[in-house]
Amino acid sequence: MTRRKIIAGNWKMNLDRTGSVDLAGAVAQITHDSSTEVLVFPATAWIVPVADALQGTDVKVGGQNCHFETRGAFTGEVSASMLAELCSYVLAGHSERRHVFGETDETVGKKVRAILDVGLSAVLCVGETLDERNAEDAESVVERQLKAGLGHVSATDLAQIVIAYEPVWAIGTGVSATPDDAQTMCRFVRLTMESMYGPEAGEVSVLYGGSVTADNAMDLLKQADIDGGLVGGASLDVQSFRAIVEASQHL
Ligand code: PEP
Repeated sequence: MTRRKIIAGNWKMNLDRTGSVDLAGAVAQITHDSSTEVLVFPATAWIVPVADALQGTDVKVGGQNCHFETRGAFTGEVSASMLAELCSYVLAGHSERRHVFGETDETVGKKVRAILDVGLSAVLCVGETLDERNAEDAESVVERQLKAGLGHVSATDLAQIVIAYEPVWAIGTGVSATPDDAQTMCRFVRLTMESMYGPEAGEVSVLYGGSVTADNAMDLLKQADIDGGLVGGASLDVQSFRAIVEASQHL
């Protein structure tokens, strides 16, 4: 197992069907070598047409969220097994799920397990709020989220795990973490994982997310412990997204 370089676009609840399919087609035209994996996370409603548009390309599709149960009376939800038909990855514990929809660490841990159980890879998102950072609690928050999010994950599952360190205060704000701060926290993620699983955890890819743009991507992505980016706003514009993918593969 080697650390994968990954550039992932989280389209959130943006774009209509045509916009999603068109953007997927444009992303598929971004030339990149196999050193960088490119993923897109469309809105759930458009996963099918986006997956169709990307068939035969090397761009992978992911779900933004899932329920931890396989089926049942959960109106409005989608299960990991349903996503497994179309996706390769699912996000778990994105900050908007935690802070807007009140997802707990425990729920996130169950979702990660459900994602792995259907053979998909989980992108476990962790990160502190501004208040937590100002109170110098960033590391303890991230450690708690990692331990709970990976609470049902064994060392043999690690090939299906990607971690995204996304400080809440940097998401969608235009204020990215500095490359040094992002590196420090991604290093902390890696060391925490190693303390949980041993040296094998050093092979898990750790992404940075939070106002990554074409302008700051190179400085962030060249940090030793940052293996890629989870990109929101800038992934909606194919020129910006292309520049971020190119920054990754030139490293
Ligand atoms: C995100 O959606 O995970 C994200 C990091 O968004 P943005 O790049 O817009 O900050």
